[in-house]
Amino acid sequence: LTEKVKSVANLPAITPDGRPIELVLNAGLSAGFEHSQKVGAVGIGLYRTEIPFMNRSCFPSEHEQTLWYKEVLAAFPTQAVTMRTLDVGGDKALPYFPISEDNPFLGWRGIRITLDHPEIFLLQIRAMIRANIGHNNLEIMLPMITSVTEVDDAVRLINQAYHELCTEFNERLTKPRVGIMLEVPGVIYQLKELAQRVDFFSVGSNDLTQYLLAVDRNNARVATIYDYYHPSVLRALNVIAQESTNYLVPLSLCGELASEPAGALLLLAMGYDKLSMNSHNVARVKWVIRHVEMQRAKVMLSHALTLSTAKQVHNYLNEQLEQLG
Ligand code: PEP
Ligand code: MG
Repeated sequence: LTEKVKSVANLPAITPDGRPIELVLNAGLSAGFEHSQKVGAVGIGLYRTEIPFMNRSCFPSEHEQTLWYKEVLAAFPTQAVTMRTLDVGGDKALPYFPISEDNPFLGWRGIRITLDHPEIFLLQIRAMIRANIGHNNLEIMLPMITSVTEVDDAVRLINQAYHELCTEFNERLTKPRVGIMLEVPGVIYQLKELAQRVDFFSVGSNDLTQYLLAVDRNNARVATIYDYYHPSVLRALNVIAQESTNYLVPLSLCGELASEPAGALLLLAMGYDKLSMNSHNVARVKWVIRHVEMQRAKVMLSHALTLSTAKQVHNYLNEQLEQLG
């Protein structure tokens, strides 16, 4: 990190004209939490629970999971920690849960698997709620949501786990807030119904880009087509922001786009409340936020939204960033 960027670590993420935005972390293992406190991130916006599931030979028990989650919640005692339920399938496999499909990214992944295996889901949710006792900073996030039925089914299971634990502890435990990832393009047309069912939205721009542009996020041959700055992706992100504001749903974004200075400025201008990123990008994004007026970011956004190709968008944003130094 350059000195310039490091200097903002203990300062809030706020534009010079006073628009604040929360910068939080993407995480998957507990390593690096001290570093994140140093760069001044406020909480965890995406804890990828599948990561600790990966380097093992069998499913973790409820007790083991409880211990993992406790450690994460304890590391951010005064800040929200958003834990995503198991998001395997696609390119993420568990050695002890093999899946073989022709089109894994369009197949059995994320919430689709855990709703087909409620015993896996319930065990994980119970572990999360147990871990949250005494911390009360847990939020639960559901990956790969495609329909309101999936949300209803998942929420029913979460309520079931919650009530079981309240009975076990004979006390009214804190009920975690529940949100969904917006990463399947179809949900953009059902935000109203979804808003009635959850406490927050978080855009998974990595997958949203993949599915909106029908381009495998890991295929080098089509990597140039996979572009967060494609006009269709930017316009979709903007519609999501406008609708979430209308329905009063807190909105964050936890894909790679949030960690790029230009991306962060556009998302700020669109009205995103929270950006979640890897710890090594927090300071850089914060520096940019602290040096660009909201008014200026809005002008950048309005212009970017008029452009017709990703290349034009890149050229325009590069020019703008160069002016910032
Ligand atoms: C995303 O899809 O943007 C996301 C944050 O989740 P993942 O990269 O784990 O699929
Ligand atoms: Mg995703």
